[in-house]
Amino acid sequence: MKQAAAVVLVFALFAAMVAAQQAQTNAPPQTPRPAAAKREPQMAPGGKWRVHDESRPRPPLVTPATGVPAETPGRPPSDAVVLFDGKDLSHWQAFIKNQFAEPQWKVENGYMEVVPGTGHLVSKEKFGDAQYHIEWAAPAEVKGSGQGRGNGGVFLMRRYEVQVLDSWQNQTYADGQAAAVYGQYPPLVNASRKPGEWQSYDIIFEAPRFEGEQQVKPAYLTLIHNGLVVHNHVALAGQLTSPRAGAGQREVEDSLMLQNHSGNLVHYRNIWVRKLKPYDEP
Ligand code: MG
Repeated sequence: MKQAAAVVLVFALFAAMVAAQQAQTNAPPQTPRPAAAKREPQMAPGGKWRVHDESRPRPPLVTPATGVPAETPGRPPSDAVVLFDGKDLSHWQAFIKNQFAEPQWKVENGYMEVVPGTGHLVSKEKFGDAQYHIEWAAPAEVKGSGQGRGNGGVFLMRRYEVQVLDSWQNQTYADGQAAAVYGQYPPLVNASRKPGEWQSYDIIFEAPRFEGEQQVKPAYLTLIHNGLVVHNHVALAGQLTSPRAGAGQREVEDSLMLQNHSGNLVHYRNIWVRKLKPYDEP
């Protein structure tokens, strides 16, 4: 009898231990976990401002000279690769869900228009050092605000974004407005035209250079927006906002990419590129 009682007691003790352990497992933690420390965004090139810093000064609005860009596009230079002459998308492919596909942006009246859900456009041809000419217009019908108004983008080598945005009376962080190198440099001045009006980007781009694993020269960019210099040979970080940039990058040429930003219905026309060679090379 004593033996039976001892067995029951041991069993009861064991059950109590298991129950106590379970209660501990199910119990909420004694002290709340400390909130994760808020990570500060990276520094933009120059080391003075953080990426997308709201306190970074907005550049002043400057009215561009009349007639830039021309009301009707002229003929591109004879040595240019014409990526879009207003007629078709034969020089482009779509890039959607990390795959290439047939381009489906709308082509009409001499321009192309973003079609929601059809991906970005990527040029079939790749470019390194080059001069680019691109014309674009934010939707005439104003919708949204900040980054949601007429957002597009011209990605050099599919990495470095020259921002396309309706920056006419539309405030956003300085390094994200029209003609900014996105996340890096605001334009020197805001040369934006009104939504619906054609605007031009003339870009002189130098591709980065590598020796083995080492980047020995960054990419450099000069941008003329509606006839005004807004970046003057600035070195590009490349790593800040695009997951494709930076680590692992070794290419010295890649495609031009036009961004489809949440289906913002941006127009593009008259896109051409001139490959740049060193002096004394035919
Ligand atoms: Mg954009």
